[in-house]
Amino acid sequence: MIQIIEAPQSQVHRRDMAFHARTIIEPFKVRCVEPLPMTSREHREAKLREARHNLFALRAEDVTIDLMTDSGTGAMSQAQWSALMSGDESYAGSRSFFEFESVVRELTGKRHVIPTHQGRAAERILFGAIGRPGLVVPANAHFDTTRANVTASGCEALDLVIAEGNDPRSLHPFKGDVDLARLDALLCERGASVPLVLVTVTNNTGGGQPVSMGNLRAVRELCTRHAVPLFLDCARFAENAYFIKTREPGFSDRSVESIAQEMFRLAHGALMSAKKDGLVNIGGFLALDDDAWARSCRSALILTEGFPTYGGLAGRDLAALAVGLREVLDERYLDYRVASVRYLHDHLARLGVPLLSPPGGHAVYLDGRAFLPHVAPRDLPGQALSIALYREAGIRAVEIGTVMFGRTGEDGRQIPSPMDLVRLALPRRVYTQSHVDYVIEAVGYVFERRAALGGYRIVDEPPTLRHFDCGFEPIADERGMRPGGK
Ligand SMILES: *Cc1c(COP(=O)(O)O)cnc(C)c1O
Repeated sequence: MIQIIEAPQSQVHRRDMAFHARTIIEPFKVRCVEPLPMTSREHREAKLREARHNLFALRAEDVTIDLMTDSGTGAMSQAQWSALMSGDESYAGSRSFFEFESVVRELTGKRHVIPTHQGRAAERILFGAIGRPGLVVPANAHFDTTRANVTASGCEALDLVIAEGNDPRSLHPFKGDVDLARLDALLCERGASVPLVLVTVTNNTGGGQPVSMGNLRAVRELCTRHAVPLFLDCARFAENAYFIKTREPGFSDRSVESIAQEMFRLAHGALMSAKKDGLVNIGGFLALDDDAWARSCRSALILTEGFPTYGGLAGRDLAALAVGLREVLDERYLDYRVASVRYLHDHLARLGVPLLSPPGGHAVYLDGRAFLPHVAPRDLPGQALSIALYREAGIRAVEIGTVMFGRTGEDGRQIPSPMDLVRLALPRRVYTQSHVDYVIEAVGYVFERRAALGGYRIVDEPPTLRHFDCGFEPIADERGMRPGGK
């Protein structure tokens, strides 16, 4: 097993090494191992039929490399497992809560720290407290659960990302930036109806693309001018801070921690899904300064999550999260994390595979529509590609395209979404370089034989969030992709 990641560019820690290595090694070694399920193509074909070709319906034990999401799928460190053992399970005033609170306060600078069981609970509680019909919540881009919770509170969710953020080929270094002119226009026109401005760091919906400090500072200025609070949806705050350090002029000498602290201090509050940069399998929080909002949020928390010193989590979860929020700021970890994603991206790009570029912090996105140009968007090229990756190599990706965001028209045909992407998300600290090499080889194999792939149709679907549960069938018989097959 090779555990090296090639370093294509100079890295943050190069200067404190006497030996100038070109490889970035995983900054950890493995002590607890989980066997990888290995399956045959016939087995996977049978499982695909059982799952009605919906990869969400597969059992994890039938998946070899699971790149469906980076959410809650990371590996905890020995320090986190130790913290778990010393978690305090007191109902009220748990020691683990205070450890967690002090870490979040130091990071965000916010007085009120409210734990939730995951990100969407923080969203529901915040927007439940401040949202109502007639209001509008602008963001660079709302994540899907965020949009759903904003909308459920009666507000309108508006995405104002810069134009480059919607162009899969643009090499802009901060494709998550907010379009300042459009935000200013909105605040001038409807400022009184904007309860807060939300900035998602990194922009998950747009491919894990970062937001620059310059943009955050400018958004804050607009918010101050219009007296509207600024909140961060900060699931990947550390990856975003790392991109600021490595891509934005003037930040290379700052620590990622101080950059993250500045990001949070520009905002009045933050919502977090800790299942990402919290390095835990479950958890989230809300952090804010406003006393009245905090009071309403705590009341809502007690109703559905739990008492404010545990908020839907066990004491041990809070203890592990307190450790994870510190570990994620380790710059050696972030070097390795971002290099792993870039390694996958660059090797696929070298094979000519159409991709969203540059790579973001947590995933590589294949452009399904360009990958399968002979499959019309209404015939679900992203789904066809995801199915092929599973059938040929046991890799589970996720379609982010017409299945997720399109809909079935009156005539029964699909109304496509703007793009058909296939996301390969890397869980944190889970897979090594040889796993990534396997993925590169598999995508290359499918790419060479792409002409043999056909489209899919949806045969049954639920009324909302259909991608989780709908069934598919191939439009024509798959011609197969066995080695040497036609
Ligand atoms: C994952 C995520 C959420 C939702 O968090 P959950 O923990 O899955 O409920 C919200 N916003 C962003 C940006 C996310 O990535």
